[in-house]
Amino acid sequence: MCQYITHSRVCFVCKHEDTVLISEKHCSHARRSGAFGSCGRGIGNATKSTPQHCWKCKEYPIAPVMYSGMR
Ligand SMILES: [Zn+2]
Ligand SMILES: [Zn+2]
Repeated sequence: MCQYITHSRVCFVCKHEDTVLISEKHCSHARRSGAFGSCGRGIGNATKSTPQHCWKCKEYPIAPVMYSGMR
């Protein structure tokens, strides 16, 4: 079965998820004929996630939870 691989980055601090790209993974049958999904078995989905610091957590290393009242 051919698969769409969703590459995403998941922030290990706030769990924010960012999809980076979606690639196509040909199965052996589809690779032979050269056309994605040509095996006729349907197209599946898979996710590959990489842990990261999202831009927010990079900017604010400590989660800005209680900012109100701080002056
Ligand atoms: Zn296939
Ligand atoms: Zn984050």
